[in-house]
Amino acid sequence: MQFELSEDQRHIQALARQFAEKEIQPRAAQADAEGRFPMAVYHKALELGLLNTSLPAHLGGAGLGCMELVLITEALCHGCLGIGTALCINALAAEPLLIAGTREQQQQFLGQLAQGAMASFALTEPAAGSDVAGIRTRAQRVPGGYRLTGNKIWISNAPMAEFFIVFAKTDADAGHKGLTAFVVSADSEGLSVGAPLSKLGQKAAPTAEVFFDDVFVPDACRLGDEGSGFSLAMKVFDRSRPMVAAFGVGLIQRCLDESLAYAAQRESMGRTLMGHQAIAHRLADMRVRLEAARLLTYQAAWRLDGGQPNTIQASIAKLYSADAAMWAATETVQIFGCMGYSTEYPAEKLFRDAKVLQIYEGTSEIQRNIIARELC
Ligand SMILES: Cc1cc2nc3c(=O)[nH]c(=O)nc-3n(C[C@H](O)[C@H](O)[C@H](O)COP(=O)(O)OP(=O)(O)OC[C@H]3O[C@@H](n4cnc5c(N)ncnc54)[C@H](O)[C@@H]3O)c2cc1C
Repeated sequence: MQFELSEDQRHIQALARQFAEKEIQPRAAQADAEGRFPMAVYHKALELGLLNTSLPAHLGGAGLGCMELVLITEALCHGCLGIGTALCINALAAEPLLIAGTREQQQQFLGQLAQGAMASFALTEPAAGSDVAGIRTRAQRVPGGYRLTGNKIWISNAPMAEFFIVFAKTDADAGHKGLTAFVVSADSEGLSVGAPLSKLGQKAAPTAEVFFDDVFVPDACRLGDEGSGFSLAMKVFDRSRPMVAAFGVGLIQRCLDESLAYAAQRESMGRTLMGHQAIAHRLADMRVRLEAARLLTYQAAWRLDGGQPNTIQASIAKLYSADAAMWAATETVQIFGCMGYSTEYPAEKLFRDAKVLQIYEGTSEIQRNIIARELC
């Protein structure tokens, strides 16, 4: 077993850290306050080669693995979890194409991403989030393709997306075997995107509803066979959950950095906060959970890159990292005292941003269901 990163991995990690410090962190508070994603950051990250890293080289990507993706993701999310999340959504939308796309589909749509397009992964619906098999968007067979009717909700980057990976029912009576995935261009007739949803945190990452009103999708835009959508979504999650676990690792590291700096200078009863064992122990525990979340995340990514099954490791990493991030953010607010409650200091944003880690990409309860199922 070896715990050292390669020289190339250390290089890309350093690049992502510098980028987050220089380009993301200084814009985070304003982007959060305005609820707007700073597109300039996206273009700069793209130019530097920090995005689309998992696309193959012949399509304009870097052909890198999940390990590099989590290293970059952790660094970007240390700068701001909202901006970092929005920057990483292309990696989620690319996965179904990498797993199930034909050569032509990959060339067209992954090529678009490499050229700077953004895309979204659209699974959740108003009546079905955790219950993936319960989605109601219908894909009706018609000559030459399908007609899609229904709507998706909470779709990250939807207002900026040039295409969507959409999961719909091609057979309403076949349960999870009735789902099929499609690639749908944002300019398709009948497709519309709602206004960004108002939310607690990650305000710089826009999420919106997407409506499909009898949208024609040609056969050439179906991903995989009819009925393969559920299993495709589950394969995508095995690959994307290490990345989402890295969102949490970046946030925990930021909580530790901010808490340490504050506890070193704030005095109470004749000594710094760090001089009070109750606070020092909190910081020690934060470091322990950071280390554990990071190692679990790297393990899930490493197994994936090595071609080994990683379902349980991806769920464990995502669950642990999300819960540890929420815990660390809560502790950070407490260490900052009333300044933790103030919008002038970073703690309250970390707290607001952290919560959704326990909700998206499979809630903490769903991760526990998967882990329990894998035990049997
Ligand atoms: C900011 C944000 C961004 C998002 N981005 C995307 C995106 O890009 N694409 C996308 O498709 N979706 C996205 N989502 C949706 C997200 O994946 C869902 O919110 C999530 O899957 C949970 O679904 P739900 O909200 O419908 O909750 P529900 O499924 O209604 O669950 C409600 C509660 O019940 C629990 N629960 C439900 N079923 C079970 C069960 N079987 N066992 C135990 N507990 C259970 C859940 O854990 C949860 O606590 C996003 C959500 C948010 C908030």
